[in-house]
Amino acid sequence: MSDILAGVLVVGGGPGGYVTAIRAGRLGLAVVLVEAMALGGTCLNIGCIPSKALIHAAEAYAHAREQAHSAPFGLKVEHPTLDFARTLEWKDAIVGRLTGGVAALLKRGKVKILRGHATMLDGKTCRVETDTGVQIVRAEHVVLATGSEPVALPSLPFGGPVISSTEALSLPEIPKRLAVIGAGYIGLELGTAYAKFGAQVTVIETRDSILPLYDAELVRPVAARLKELGVEVLTATRALGLSQDGAALMVEQAGSAPRAIAADRFLVAVGRRPRISGAGLERLDLTMNGNAVAIDARCATSMRNVWAIGDLTGEPMLAHRAMAQGAIVAELIAGQRRSFDNVAIPAVCFTDPELVTVGLAPEQARAMGREVVTGMFPLRANGRAMTLRAEQGFVRVIARADNHLVLGIAAVGAGVSELAAAFGLALEMGATLEDIAGTIHAHPTLGEAFHEATLLALGQGLHI
Ligand code: FAD
Repeated sequence: MSDILAGVLVVGGGPGGYVTAIRAGRLGLAVVLVEAMALGGTCLNIGCIPSKALIHAAEAYAHAREQAHSAPFGLKVEHPTLDFARTLEWKDAIVGRLTGGVAALLKRGKVKILRGHATMLDGKTCRVETDTGVQIVRAEHVVLATGSEPVALPSLPFGGPVISSTEALSLPEIPKRLAVIGAGYIGLELGTAYAKFGAQVTVIETRDSILPLYDAELVRPVAARLKELGVEVLTATRALGLSQDGAALMVEQAGSAPRAIAADRFLVAVGRRPRISGAGLERLDLTMNGNAVAIDARCATSMRNVWAIGDLTGEPMLAHRAMAQGAIVAELIAGQRRSFDNVAIPAVCFTDPELVTVGLAPEQARAMGREVVTGMFPLRANGRAMTLRAEQGFVRVIARADNHLVLGIAAVGAGVSELAAAFGLALEMGATLEDIAGTIHAHPTLGEAFHEATLLALGQGLHI
């Protein structure tokens, strides 16, 4: 096989890599994208999308069971049952539609897709093992987008009943008992879904709180709902390993004797780390930032014309960050002046209730020496939340006390993930409290809680 010459070689076809390739292709660059597994990467195949499909199905099932039990608004549902195999088929069909869409978009952008494992030989040359043999690609620019992988616990290696989020998204059946090690967003999203599917779920977390990256005020409604769902949450607790018969997880809570948590599956969700090994990156002269590839504001690495984006470059490991970086890198390579200088990257936990944060939390702002004003509007005073029977939670806005520039917005509540767009826009546009207060928010919507929170921060609350 003769070598392939490319303007841009993209290693990895996840949200970072495929967006780079599509954008670069549309800008007229000759692009080769190498993907070892499936187009769409973690996000489309074993991450964001399949997890949200399962979360939705689980919520629908829990809702149906609640109607069968109490019919709060008169809807009678009798003996709802769930065909889990069908749920998985439905989830897989969504994944198939999206990954098929990515393939079509790449084709339209005239991107050459090489299916196979890529190993960088130097900063311009890559060896790809395809089904039909080894292919060498030589490129002017290389974009590294190899993503991330789940972190394993040495005391609880993956295999058999010990699973990562990947296996948890395709279990052959709903486990009777599920132990979730790690109460970050991935562990809680999946743990909550399985609790709603009917599993008896125990969550084990070494830190003092679930969702340790979020402040206590935001986490409280999520903790309350877990309790309501019968999920046992053990904080300040360490997973020691499986019992000798493999049927239980031995855990230790500070100051107490070890205890056994019997379960059929043990989901280890203690974090993800950049996928550094396996792609020949160690042969390159890349400066590292901890366990991630170091990049500047243009996503340039320490090597000329070698770029890195997405989870490979560390936190926050989110699909929308990877995509934004990918588009910027493509445009930079095409000669445009761009940089990644966003004010904020929204983060959403699709827990129950959902949680969304953009910008700073009050303590973070104060730690930076800022004097702030805060407004918090509870969803129980929002008409739309009442009609949705989703009154738990609130919207919180913080702004600089001197000029009212909004510094951070957060919400917890059912369906608040959709407010992430309005929150992000406000921060990116440099909105002040007065800008949001002066914007007409449609009635009845959850967005009115955002409006009201800013009114409260201005001392002009209306509906409370
Ligand atoms: P990836 O999506 O990991 O893609 C990297 C690709 O590179 C993979 O397809 C891999 O096969 C390929 N690759 C790696 N090495 C090679 C090689 N040597 N040769 C060829 N190909 C290679 N993020 C959100 O924003 N919202 C969410 O709701 C969300 N939910 C999540 C739920 C779960 C369960 C998980 C696990 C993750 C979730 N994420 C979510 C995170 C999100 O999936 C990642 O941030 C995102 O996929 C990162 O994109 P990426 O392009 O950097 O890497």
